[in-house]
Amino acid sequence: MTKIRLTEADRFERRHNGSREVRTQKMLTKIGVDSVDELIDQTIPAAIRLKQPLQLPAAQTEHGFLKSFKSIADKNQVFRSMIGLGYHDTITPGVIQRNILENPGWYTAYTPYQAEIAQGRLEALINFQTMVTDLTGMELANASLLDEGTAAAEAMSMLFATRKGKKKKAAFKFFVDQHTLPQTQSILNTRATPIGIELVTGDVAEFDATDESFFGILLQYPNSEGDILGYPAVAEKAKANDINVAVAVDLLAMALLTPPGEWGADVVVGTTQRFGVPLGFGGPHAAFFATKEAYKRQIPGRIIGVSQDRDGNKAYRMALQTREQHIKRERATSNICTAQVLLAVIAGMYGVYHGPEGIKTIATNVHGHTQLIAKGVEAFGFKQLNGAYFDTIKIEATAAQIATVRTLAEKAGINFRYAENFIGIAVNQTTALEDVQDILTIFAEAAQADVKSFDLTAAADQLEISWADQFKRSSEYMTHPVFHAYRSEHELLRYMKRLENKDISLAHSMISLGSCTMKLNATAEMIPITWPSLASIHPFAPANQTEGYFEIFRNLEGWLNEITGFAGTSLQPNSGAQGEFAGLMVIKAYHEDRGDHHRNICIIPTSAHGTNPASAALAGMKIVLVKCDDAGNIDVADLREKAEANKENLSALMVTYPSTHGVYEESIIEICNIIHENGGQVYMDGANMNAQVGLTSPANIGADVCHLNLHKTFAIPHGGGGPGIGPICVAEQLVPFLPGSPLTDLAGGEKAITAISSAPWGSAGVLAISYAYIAMMGSEGLTNATKLAILNANYIQSRLKDHFPVLYVGANGRNAHELILDCRQFKTIGIEVEDIAKRLIDYGFHAPTVSFPVAGTLMIEPTESESLEELDRFCDAMVAIRQEVKEIEDGKAEAENNVLKNAPHTQALVLNDNWEMPYSREKAGYPLPYLKEAKIWPSVRRIDNAFGDRNLMCSCIPVSEYAEAEA
Ligand SMILES: *Cc1c(COP(=O)(O)O)cnc(C)c1O
Repeated sequence: MTKIRLTEADRFERRHNGSREVRTQKMLTKIGVDSVDELIDQTIPAAIRLKQPLQLPAAQTEHGFLKSFKSIADKNQVFRSMIGLGYHDTITPGVIQRNILENPGWYTAYTPYQAEIAQGRLEALINFQTMVTDLTGMELANASLLDEGTAAAEAMSMLFATRKGKKKKAAFKFFVDQHTLPQTQSILNTRATPIGIELVTGDVAEFDATDESFFGILLQYPNSEGDILGYPAVAEKAKANDINVAVAVDLLAMALLTPPGEWGADVVVGTTQRFGVPLGFGGPHAAFFATKEAYKRQIPGRIIGVSQDRDGNKAYRMALQTREQHIKRERATSNICTAQVLLAVIAGMYGVYHGPEGIKTIATNVHGHTQLIAKGVEAFGFKQLNGAYFDTIKIEATAAQIATVRTLAEKAGINFRYAENFIGIAVNQTTALEDVQDILTIFAEAAQADVKSFDLTAAADQLEISWADQFKRSSEYMTHPVFHAYRSEHELLRYMKRLENKDISLAHSMISLGSCTMKLNATAEMIPITWPSLASIHPFAPANQTEGYFEIFRNLEGWLNEITGFAGTSLQPNSGAQGEFAGLMVIKAYHEDRGDHHRNICIIPTSAHGTNPASAALAGMKIVLVKCDDAGNIDVADLREKAEANKENLSALMVTYPSTHGVYEESIIEICNIIHENGGQVYMDGANMNAQVGLTSPANIGADVCHLNLHKTFAIPHGGGGPGIGPICVAEQLVPFLPGSPLTDLAGGEKAITAISSAPWGSAGVLAISYAYIAMMGSEGLTNATKLAILNANYIQSRLKDHFPVLYVGANGRNAHELILDCRQFKTIGIEVEDIAKRLIDYGFHAPTVSFPVAGTLMIEPTESESLEELDRFCDAMVAIRQEVKEIEDGKAEAENNVLKNAPHTQALVLNDNWEMPYSREKAGYPLPYLKEAKIWPSVRRIDNAFGDRNLMCSCIPVSEYAEAEA
């Protein structure tokens, strides 16, 4: 008899971590060590190693996880959401859900820095920008911000930074309409104070535009209580007095209402959530920022623009990148890096699929159903308090009436908004006549009236737009052919597939972007995010309906505390950069609480990521830079000198660990001690946590707070540039200050700072991904992942170091989880690092990180998920490219006309009858044998960035120009 031993057949770690034992042995031999542990001992300084392993729950299998997680998610109750306040249920078209939201070809892509293999998502984003520009009536829009509240804050900051003339000296007040969304007001408050803006909240009807101390004003249209007020007149008065106008709008309402662009607004912001993006208990959703051309150099975030490739063909790329934080650093007025690209793609496709007539129909239905509810409740004796409204009404009610309605509504599975003396009802795309009937039944019962006394069918036949002509939209929108060509599902399916096929994602090959940690985004991690029990929950739903979410938060916060060694976690920040800002504001609150209001100096090494100085600037801190030595390490003597010189006012140090140079600095403990001795707190940028988990921790190295990029280390896909989540984890003394929310007491510490993000738990809807990752990997799996990430990076080092100089290494010649290859020496023969990046496309690879943290270099981060075969394929490509460089060095290839300068090669170029290059077609298109198995052709040749910036065009080319081109 053979004895049976029961084991877990589908252990997840085997699927996530790329290398298996035999292969690991080969890699160790190449590196020149006997074991992985020996390599780790040579890499991470002993002084900072964890003394004991992580204590996380036992690893679950994929199947086991999905089963147990379902039972947690099912503790949430899915009600019909009529709370409004900036979040509305919506219908994600199935074809978009399956082929974009659930499709790794879309969700695993990176921010489109390599535009030649990103034309698909760039086109999708330009559709988004065009839709937003048209609906708001503005000239220009970016390709997403994090949420409506932060978008409003960006508008305020931009208007502040661009004050002119007299205003520049004397105007520091920003007026906010009192009926702006409460979460937006809280964020404005967080962002205004540190940079010296005085926020004034009040009734817009009483705003005194002649007061010269105001530079700007924010209006909410329609406002948080549903009213459409006389804002055009307010805007006119403000503009006449040199006060700039920002308006937060409901984008769906813009299909029917005169958009602010037509009454003089300078900036229009809002969210595109209700354009097909699930509620997800608050996010992720794409916010937008639309403005005038005049502000094009000050717009926060990424803008997609039209340019041309080397053959003069139309090509898209990110425009005006000198605006961004990585260039502006401490002079930046925005720190946005990761945005909400995947969600913007979805919202844009929703616009493409429905077109202007469809969007208008949806908006009209929403308004019609709202009117029916308003008329019905009035028939039962309630007073409806709005004048003109779009989708939201408030109904006057006593406390007793509110209690009755609430009981009945909750029994019927409906959530309204319950204010002190009114009930708010917000209608959405999912609302049907049956829902209206259910709502009327509730109000009839509460009023002890007969529901039949109101003839719903008759009323439905007599609906018309109820607001003044002044507010009726007459202008056209979404006239471009792209919003008219894809009405059938087949057409849209094929359009989306065509776009997808233009881009390189993790579904094709490894994307070794240093600092970005493009690891596996496992399918089992992604499955839960579209479960209605997670996706269909309003962020302000009553707490007793969201116990599943609270259990997820509790567990995940606990695990992140364990992993970082800290005492508390806030899940609110929705990107790494937001985490930085949140962490610095928490440090600031801590100092202020101790009476140290003057502590405002932030020390940052010159090697820091651009978001670090930008976040410090947003937090109102004064930045003092410290140098790095020749080996790439922080110059400890310089740091000590600066810390001591600023002893009285030192607030914080921001430090990335392991450093952005890919090395575990030996002196980190000393560095943290110096800061503490001089009264400062240590902020650790956690982008490189993939080199720490299970082996060391932020608390262990002496930090006080860190952010984690869940979209790097913890398996949330990059989505082509978002979503991300950037929770902060903090030491005991900082826990009381973790950010809160104006809509719940359950988020944040006892002395919580005001909101960082619109939703109390940020992008809660995708936390399931990181939760799944940790639950399925367990302590051992996570620790092995870190070890293998380091193994893979050092294997690449061992294969490439004879071909390219490796810029920085640790004391024993090892790298952390990433390494930098120096390409500056090729400049003498005219080869730039960009040429190598573009040539990699011909080999089927997305380039590593180009020119960060050192110009002229490539930073490679393979992650633990890549197998030896894939690492070798990448190294073979790099070695082959080095040979191609050598041919130029040796004079065997022309200096100007060669495979590198002409890269990437399109299919159209290689198949052209007039092939005129001084090398073969095969060398151009199939330089290595593996490419014959699977080849990705770029859809355009090298793109001219400068041309696009000179001729800025950020929407789909208008129809009129199409017609001209045809003629
Ligand atoms: C990615 C990154 C950030 C910014 O994170 P986002 O999520 O993009 O805002 C900050 N610092 C470093 C070192 C990074 O790599």
